[in-house]
Amino acid sequence: MTNKSVLHDHLDGGLRAKTIIELASNLQIKLPTDDENLLEDWFFENISSRQNQVFNKFELTISIMQDSESLQRIAYEAVEDLRKDQIAEGELRYAPMQHLRKGLSPQDVVESVSTGLKEGMKDFGGQFNPILCAMRQNEDSLEVANLAISNYSNGVVGFDLAGPEFGHPPSKHIEACKKIKNSNIGLTIHAGEAADFSYIEDAIMNCNAQRIGHGWQVIDGCIDTGDIYTPNTDTARYIFENQVPLEICISSNVKSGASNVNLENHPAVKLLRSGFKVTLNPDNRLMASTSLSREFRLAREHLGLSKDEESKLLINAVNSLFSRE
Ligand SMILES: [Zn+2]
Repeated sequence: MTNKSVLHDHLDGGLRAKTIIELASNLQIKLPTDDENLLEDWFFENISSRQNQVFNKFELTISIMQDSESLQRIAYEAVEDLRKDQIAEGELRYAPMQHLRKGLSPQDVVESVSTGLKEGMKDFGGQFNPILCAMRQNEDSLEVANLAISNYSNGVVGFDLAGPEFGHPPSKHIEACKKIKNSNIGLTIHAGEAADFSYIEDAIMNCNAQRIGHGWQVIDGCIDTGDIYTPNTDTARYIFENQVPLEICISSNVKSGASNVNLENHPAVKLLRSGFKVTLNPDNRLMASTSLSREFRLAREHLGLSKDEESKLLINAVNSLFSRE
């Protein structure tokens, strides 16, 4: 399967274990293990966004992403890895404000990542653009929104709210969302990953999100008739009628344990069959130990994804890229 596109892939969640070991050694940062395979296992084990454990794993990856060279290298390698997975176009997200600990300015961070992506595209081809995330527990979302808008020419195509959902509903960042709405930057919001349907409602109805990160809990705004989900709330109807893309990440949801989804009952394929605009994504290739092609394989093997449905997923993703707008 060639020419896939990816909408939801965190730069700080997709590093190579080998790179982490090399960079940590240069920076004299102590790792739980210096063995590549064991380190991959460590990142995969015991992550749960319910207990915010996953954020401890990010703490480690972020600690080695504090200088221009490391950021460039990690962005460059992400392009190489995604190209190896037959991905033609993609959007990689990161939170610039998390990379300022060693004196980089937010603008330096954006330029470093963009340079890494450009170098990667030069060597490996494809089209890859950044999405800037604001951390929803912080107060600097307007600054991140402005940073995204002023870096449109640096390839930035989107703005996102990421981080712990509970207690941090999207509308807490309404000013940033409004600013984005009046710009040429796309708006996607993590909603309904760890928290409930009301967070999706808030993201769509109050913040005008154009895409939803995860979003599978839209099923709580639908009636389950056994074969399909039929919207029976304004929000679910809006998402259905306006074909709002859902950036679904099966492995990540199963692994995070934030809800009771598993590989056998994940609603991804049933939502697609019901007519929702579903896309598949890896979320965090390292922490969820996955790739985009693995996500498709899981959907085929566990959720009965057919060939035609697979084509539909590919079309949905390419049509939902902010970079194509
Ligand atoms: Zn995510």
